[in-house]
Amino acid sequence: MANYTDAVCRLCRREGQKLFLKGDRCLSPKCAIEKRNFPPGDHGKKATFRRKVSEYGLQLREKQKARRIYGVMERQFRRYFENADRQKGMTGTTLLTMLESRLDNVVYRLGFADSRSQARQLVRHGHFDVNGRKTNVPSFLVSVGDVVQVRATSQNKLYFKDRSQIMQSNRTPSWLSLNLMNMSGSVQNQPGREDIEIPLNEQLIVEYYSR
Ligand code: SF4
Repeated sequence: MANYTDAVCRLCRREGQKLFLKGDRCLSPKCAIEKRNFPPGDHGKKATFRRKVSEYGLQLREKQKARRIYGVMERQFRRYFENADRQKGMTGTTLLTMLESRLDNVVYRLGFADSRSQARQLVRHGHFDVNGRKTNVPSFLVSVGDVVQVRATSQNKLYFKDRSQIMQSNRTPSWLSLNLMNMSGSVQNQPGREDIEIPLNEQLIVEYYSR
């Protein structure tokens, strides 16, 4: 499956808001949104003054934003939607709950990485166990009661030693609990809509796929 390899700050500029794809840099004055908040490309500045965006355009942008935040390609994102649509409850909320339950997102939320893309790489490189079993699939969906832990062989690596210092001042989301002593985190609850502090209008995404 293809991956996005262009400069990720362009994605934020395209959406006109910070998507927090680059860790600490996103909070610094070096953030591209702070310096040039207009769409990328030769005609980016002019595009800011273009005519009103259509209903379809709004739905498309919201879907793209969600995909970019979670780093999911179109086909997989559509599969998440179809899965969410088959389940009881609000499709949009179920969709966000699924995205939030991805292993790479949980690793990021626990603070083991500065960004979801960094978390994805750590997972792919086999640094994590889920319930004691090596799991290197970033899209693995965690469930309530699951324990995500830095593998014993990785805990001695400089990266994780440094990380545990940084993580002491991190705020862990209420649906997760962190145990820094053994570099693990457990899933206490399914993430609810209120736990997902991302400025997304999931209803627009549902409308996009329901056309
Ligand atoms: Fe987006 Fe972060 Fe780049 Fe800013 S620094 S444009 S928030 S990825």
